[in-house]
Order: sequence, then structure tokens, then C-alpha cells
Amino acid sequence: MIALIKLSRSTVEKYINCPRCCVLDKKYKIKPPSLPFTLNIAVDNLCKNEFDHYREIQEPHPLFIENKIDAIPFKHKDIDLWRSNFKGIRYKSIEHNFDFGGAVDDVWQKKNGELIIADVKATSRNNFDWNQTFNKYDYAKAYKRQLEMYQWLFRKNGFKVADEAYLLYFNGKKNERFFNNKLHFDTHLIKLNCSASWVEGKVIETVRLLQSNQFPKPSTNCEYCNYLKKRWQLQNN
Ligand code: SF4
Repeated sequence: MIALIKLSRSTVEKYINCPRCCVLDKKYKIKPPSLPFTLNIAVDNLCKNEFDHYREIQEPHPLFIENKIDAIPFKHKDIDLWRSNFKGIRYKSIEHNFDFGGAVDDVWQKKNGELIIADVKATSRNNFDWNQTFNKYDYAKAYKRQLEMYQWLFRKNGFKVADEAYLLYFNGKKNERFFNNKLHFDTHLIKLNCSASWVEGKVIETVRLLQSNQFPKPSTNCEYCNYLKKRWQLQNN
């Protein structure tokens, strides 16, 4: 039997943005440079601990009450597995030859039993305006796609999942008079109306590319490849 191709949401996201990068990463283990977001990881972890408290007592988090979300953090034996970067929630398709997985930040449950997928983000901006960010930046659109891929994964695992998903944004205040070793945040809970109808098609397209001998052209607007191209042109002039 041929081994299933292991995919994550970032593999599919790479395929959407630049199929060449997807091939470089999955087939040749070559990735563009990136920095570890250690402060974001710290925020994720603190947030997880706080939501786990409300999961344990099966009460809504105060943010749910404030934002009129009739839900509580979902209590399930696999919640830690789904949140683990090394395991996550997975779905295997023998027919299409893939094993797709992703690690969620949190899952909440509505009164009607539907699950809400949530993701935690940290940033630091003077004026936080999600709509402006979403319209202007591709990374914000990728955040929505990330939630849609997780919604699809949970549905494939047999759960009823709501179309709405949430981004829980912590915006670090950088203009406080005194630091005192404390970073204060504004909290923004952003509701996204998602549709996961595109996900399966894109996962299958990604697998087909990785099974083929194609080596697609680089994206024209990528800063990494443009940097290398300009450097190479300068050297060879
Ligand atoms: S264009 Fe960018 S995204 Fe595409 S292969 Fe080059 S570095 Fe990767």
C-alpha cells in the first residue's frame, strides 16, 4: 500500500499562495525563513489555561457573556490531543491518499450541540480594526481559511460544527506610561461567518500536485523569491 501523504493546514495554505513553495516544503524539505513567535505562544498558553478553568467547571467564559455567545468551552477526552501541534485532529482518506491534520486553539459548544472553532492571535497595533486588516492583508484571509479547514476536519470526524468561528485577538498596548514588567492587552473577539465548502477540493488538488512531477513557477509577489531574484541579477550583471 502507498503511504498516505501527510498534510497540515499550512501545506494547503502554501498550495493556495504558491504551489512551488508547497512542493519545496513537502518534497524537498526546503522552507522559507521564519521566526519563532515566542510571545504569541506564551499568550496562547495563558489563554488555554484560562479557558480550561471554565471547561472544568462547565461555565461560560466571561467573554462569552459579554459578547452574547451562548456556549461553554467543549469538554471532550481528546481536547488536549486536538490542541497538540504533534497530533492535532486528523482525517485520513484512502481514496484520495491523504492524512490531513491540524491543531486547534480551542473548541466551544453551543446549547444546540454545535461546535464553534476558535483561534487565538496576539498582535500590537495602535488602532486595531479587523475589517480594515481583513480587506488589506492576505494573512488575515489565511486566518479565516485556517478556521474553515478546522471546521471541515471536525465535520469529517463526525461532529456538528457551526458555520460561525471566532478569532480571539489580544492587542498588546505599547503606549503605556510605565512598563513595570507587565504587558497589558485589549481583547477583541471577532466573529467570522465561514464556509468550508472549498476545503476538500483544495486538499485533493494539493495531494495531486504532490503526487505529480510538476515543479510550478514561483509566485511573482513573494518577497523571499523576489529578494533572491534581485540578488542573483545583481551578482550576474
Ligand atoms: S515565491 Fe515565495 S512562496 Fe513561492 S517558492 Fe518562492 S519563497 Fe516560496
